[in-house]
Amino acid sequence: MSQSLAMNSDYKRSLLEGLELFRGVSPDDVQDLLQSCDRRDLGEGELLLSPGEKNEHVFIVLSGSLNVHVGSPEAPVLTTMDVGACVGEMSIIEDRDPSAFVIGAEPTHLLLIHQSVLWDMVNASHEFAKNLLIVLSERVRSHNHVIADSYGELRKFERHATTDALTGLNNRHTMEELFEREIKRCEKDDLPISLIMIDIDNFKVFNDHFGHVAGDRALSAVSTILKHQFRPRDVLVRFGGDEFAILLPEVDEELGVTIADRVRQIVSGDTGDGSDSLIQIPIKISMGVSQHKKGDDLSLLIRAADAALYRAKHAGRNVVSN
Ligand code: GH3
Ligand code: MG
Repeated sequence: MSQSLAMNSDYKRSLLEGLELFRGVSPDDVQDLLQSCDRRDLGEGELLLSPGEKNEHVFIVLSGSLNVHVGSPEAPVLTTMDVGACVGEMSIIEDRDPSAFVIGAEPTHLLLIHQSVLWDMVNASHEFAKNLLIVLSERVRSHNHVIADSYGELRKFERHATTDALTGLNNRHTMEELFEREIKRCEKDDLPISLIMIDIDNFKVFNDHFGHVAGDRALSAVSTILKHQFRPRDVLVRFGGDEFAILLPEVDEELGVTIADRVRQIVSGDTGDGSDSLIQIPIKISMGVSQHKKGDDLSLLIRAADAALYRAKHAGRNVVSN
């Protein structure tokens, strides 16, 4: 519903002061043009702009407020346009359908500037033209923020896809890429690199005895110890179930066994120096260590470390083998 905008000059002046497009604009410059503008009442929840419908006006909020939704009218509110703000200017300048849904957040009164009048106002007032440019640059900036936020969300999803949810360690999907990169680098510099495979001993029994939730906590506690015990450059992976794989660049098999045994003692509480185990639960681990042989592919290294782990299990568990 549109109605003619009849205003006395004082009202016009006070009205213009609060509107972003008219900041600093002399009422005399745009008086005649404003006379030709309509006003519209919009109800709460009523649709003003949508991507499917051509728009011919810039709408200025005189009272009330508008909600902007992207994608669908049911999507969360992206932003709210309060008194003095304008909407619709982008679609007019680009001569395209609106890019978002704009809906009355409450009963709202709007000033309508038809697209032909908008260009007349630009010609009539430099201040108006400047304000329009400011509004447009703010829109571009806020679009950039939305894009940056979306990129942040995307990175979050990527992190979830590469990280094991329970332990926060790299998951098996990312292992190959991370391991191969390190192996290549060490091969190139003629440096050793070793792999440790870890498997928790009798973890089925632990789960049966203490329950699955306690089992999850134990897995998480073991991974916390691993994160603290290895260097930042070592690559930690939850290999699956109760198995972990750790790649140690610049470490040969002998040193790998020494490091592994130190970690085994800390997890198992077998430090022998009277200090407590870092986890106050009866967890023991077996470990297999193998050094990469130049030219072998990753699957051979994993197979060799797995075979060493198998020997550790057969040697009675809570043991490191190579
Ligand atoms: P072994 O000493 O030979 O390794 O015996 P084990 O009982 O640990 O046997 P195995 O490693 O084959 O079994 C792994 C068990 O780990 C099976 C499953 O009950 C448990 N498990 C695997 N993933 C999870 C998990 O995410 N949470 C919990 N609570 N348990 C898990
Ligand atoms: Mg096990």
